[in-house]
Amino acid sequence: MNVVVGATSDVGQVRQVNEDSYFVDEPLFGIADGMGGHVAGDIASTTAVETIERNSEDAVSSGEPEMLARLIQRANSAIWEKAQAEAGLAGMGTTCTLLLLDDNRAHLAHVGDSRAYLFRSGQLKQVTEDHTLVARMVREGRLAPEEAHQHPQRSVITRTLGVDPDIDVDLRSLDVFDGDRLLLCSDGLSGMVDDATIAQVLQEESDPQRAADELVALANKAGGEDNITVVVVDVTDDAGAATTGARPARRSTGPREHTPVEGSRSQQTRSAEPAPSRSWRRTLVVTFVVVVLLALAAFGAGQYVLANSWFVGVSDDGSVAIFSGLPEEIGGLDLRKEQRVSEIALEDLPEFLRDDVADGIKVGSFDEAQERVDNLEERARDFGQQPTGTRKRKG
Ligand code: CA
Repeated sequence: MNVVVGATSDVGQVRQVNEDSYFVDEPLFGIADGMGGHVAGDIASTTAVETIERNSEDAVSSGEPEMLARLIQRANSAIWEKAQAEAGLAGMGTTCTLLLLDDNRAHLAHVGDSRAYLFRSGQLKQVTEDHTLVARMVREGRLAPEEAHQHPQRSVITRTLGVDPDIDVDLRSLDVFDGDRLLLCSDGLSGMVDDATIAQVLQEESDPQRAADELVALANKAGGEDNITVVVVDVTDDAGAATTGARPARRSTGPREHTPVEGSRSQQTRSAEPAPSRSWRRTLVVTFVVVVLLALAAFGAGQYVLANSWFVGVSDDGSVAIFSGLPEEIGGLDLRKEQRVSEIALEDLPEFLRDDVADGIKVGSFDEAQERVDNLEERARDFGQQPTGTRKRKG
């Protein structure tokens, strides 16, 4: 396994400072998209990248994805400590997305909305999940994916490094093959250029550096509203000349596919199929009755849950609100009903509280929910007294 890399970062058309950082330290690659007032965002992303590069040896030699999480936690602590020590840096934060290539595996670790994509056989697929309010709403079916780009709350991030002493890191590992391209980018690219256009560039431009430059140029052409960072990592086979286009074998630790024994099971099933008969019709009637009863039971249970469960969550316009029902869907059923919308938006809260509220904080009664909202309003007021510019990435 061999890699060829292209990388570039650009301030864009609107910003004064480039708060993005990235590094290419084969086989480890990373990007960080900082946020905060004045130079704080730049300091946050630079601190992340420098801390990770300085401590990467163990993660690289072990090839263990958990070590990547530990690296990001270490970067989180470094930023958190800096932010505590200097008043001007309070509230600064950064995203972080890491890619480690180990043999035929790609390990990804990330926090925030800097994306990793896999481009394979002409298809582009995002392989990280954005830690944003709109991504969560799309996942929960409350917002159509095509509406996410226009949503007024689209820049609200629910998880970032530097704002809390502890951080949850998402990990993912996938097999990679000769010809795969991995793309890491900040939202200055993914927010300005759609996936189809990104895929087209990756399809047409084979040189990774020229592909990275072309993507940055397109983001600038679309308005360049944010800093833009792009890392393109091409995976090639060491013994490329010896292969015939066949995919290399999976690593022995990878999942194995089960191959059914030919002719055994499928034939048995076919010969055992009953002919249509009276018993078949009776089965149909019984099934129908059971389905109706189950539906009634589910409806009754749903009504019960709606009337007896409470939580504090986020309404579709981004406000903190009290709901009856459950924050999560059960069997595809949406069991929540908005009961009271508060004065505060999710983005008014300190970032370490946003994930909990977006997940939905379950409580025992409406009164208890109201108490939690009062408490959150207080936290929002305290948070609002911090220097402006430290709370949001975009205006
Ligand atoms: Ca950004």
